[in-house]
Amino acid sequence: MVDAVQKTVVTAPIVKTAGNSHTPDGVLPNRRTQRRYAVRLWVVRHSRFFEWFYGRFASAFLLLHPFWTFVGYGRAERPVAFVERHVKGLLFDCRMCGQCVLSSTGMSCPMNCPKQLRNGPCGGVRADGNCEVEPDMPCVWVQAWKGAGNMVHGDGILKVQEPVNQSLRGTSSWLRVTAAAAAARGAAKEEA
Ligand code: SF4
Repeated sequence: MVDAVQKTVVTAPIVKTAGNSHTPDGVLPNRRTQRRYAVRLWVVRHSRFFEWFYGRFASAFLLLHPFWTFVGYGRAERPVAFVERHVKGLLFDCRMCGQCVLSSTGMSCPMNCPKQLRNGPCGGVRADGNCEVEPDMPCVWVQAWKGAGNMVHGDGILKVQEPVNQSLRGTSSWLRVTAAAAAARGAAKEEA
């Protein structure tokens, strides 16, 4: 009886590759290029500089709050998101999730994880530090810990991130962070 049941079990075909690793049949093909990894990895190696730069950049954006208010945050959204998409796309391979956490992830964008994990790696990181789904891609979370180790406020990586709000995809994190900082500053002034 047991033999009969076992014979009916259909197993997924497995494609053997070098070493002990294997790739289940039909997984998505690698679609990113080594050049982009190179830029991404370079940024992680210089995460301390980018941390410093991002701090200055955020302050400059906040100084422009009266301008954003005059223009209207809503109207500024499209052009600012356009610039943000291209600048951060080049540097971080940004996926425009709209809720940037780079400063808490060693300047390694977690949205490049094929599983889009925002709180650390899965259990499938390969022995060489690469991703189990895209074997030629360095695991974004291994890189995140490396980058965080270079940063002044690298312990931000210990902060638990909230789930991604999908409704914010494609929107500007720069404007959202600026509006939130301006609102917090206004509230602090009222309390004082
Ligand atoms: S966390 Fe989101 S906004 Fe920041 S770089 Fe990654 S996809 Fe872009």
